[in-house]
Amino acid sequence: MESPSVDDFRCLNLACPAYGELGLGNIRLRKWYDTRFGRRRLLRCATCGREFSELKGTALWNTRLPHERAADIMEHVTRGNSFKETAELTHTHRTTVSRLVCIAGEHAQRVHDHHAQDLRVTSLQADERHGFVGRKDQPCWEATVIDPRSKFVVQNALGARTTDLAVRLLFGTRSRLHDPHGVVLFTDGWLPYDSLFPQVFGRPYQPKRQGSRGRLPRLHYRIPRTSGHVRIIKTYHGKRVTDIRVERAAGSQRRIDQELETLGYNIPNTSAVERHNGTARRMNPHQVRKSLAFARLPHVRQTVSDLVNAVYNYCRVHRSLRVKLDEPVGRRQYAQRTPAMAIGIADAVWSMLHLLRTVVLLTPCRS
Ligand SMILES: [Zn+2]
Repeated sequence: MESPSVDDFRCLNLACPAYGELGLGNIRLRKWYDTRFGRRRLLRCATCGREFSELKGTALWNTRLPHERAADIMEHVTRGNSFKETAELTHTHRTTVSRLVCIAGEHAQRVHDHHAQDLRVTSLQADERHGFVGRKDQPCWEATVIDPRSKFVVQNALGARTTDLAVRLLFGTRSRLHDPHGVVLFTDGWLPYDSLFPQVFGRPYQPKRQGSRGRLPRLHYRIPRTSGHVRIIKTYHGKRVTDIRVERAAGSQRRIDQELETLGYNIPNTSAVERHNGTARRMNPHQVRKSLAFARLPHVRQTVSDLVNAVYNYCRVHRSLRVKLDEPVGRRQYAQRTPAMAIGIADAVWSMLHLLRTVVLLTPCRS
């Protein structure tokens, strides 16, 4: 793989005036040096004089494996292979796989935090998947918010199925949106969505005090005309769905109908996120059904899930997002796109190495 030019790097020294700035021409090549795993560059910031490896701030910093092999490990794990299977397929040790995957997962989440900002979406779908961590009697739900138009996973949260999970999921989602007041949310019948919706997507206002003394009344929330919340409530008999009821929980019917029309849906549904549940279960070894491959540690469960989401968003093309080419190229008639390309924050399909090598700005760490 071609290495990026020196101008694509930035100074990672927090105390430097040029910290995180691109295109100042302050990064110079100090020297090439040899490691057991290939040649690396040592870079130098001309502004502050700090020297650092070209891998600083990437998932591959201090990796004792060839990069292609590290990327191979991530490919295997994000196709639903357990750590043990991956170790055998890539001729590495099980603990190496687990260590690298955890580092890559933390890195992938930072990349997502950096890129998935100011998202312009007008509707969202939310759902939760059941799973375990540690032992089969310790449930660990994974809640997801997805943009049905681009299939981009905006936010996910792990933990017990409590209000806290919904709080982390919805407030995390709101922080990534350009306009949180212009969103129609489609969810299942889980009650925390209903009770949290006004706080998350409404506008707060202070009601007047009755009389002139005492504490002010509690903040109230007004639902803007541009937002809405629809609950799709399923009734089960055993494992079989016997009844589906659609309920408008907030917002006007007009706004909801308008959103359904732009999405091309006849009735409100959560099909995009439910389809994504299938994909996510196949990609994540800890979510595969009827399998013994579940995480023993919550940290591993979290990082694998973060890695899988980033790979899904930035590296894997989604068939429904392809666009017809104006001029066919040979026999190729369509351009394939990833969810990140569809939502407008990436302009190409990222390779696994690209994801791992993306530099994210760090808080200070040992150099
Ligand atoms: Zn510097």
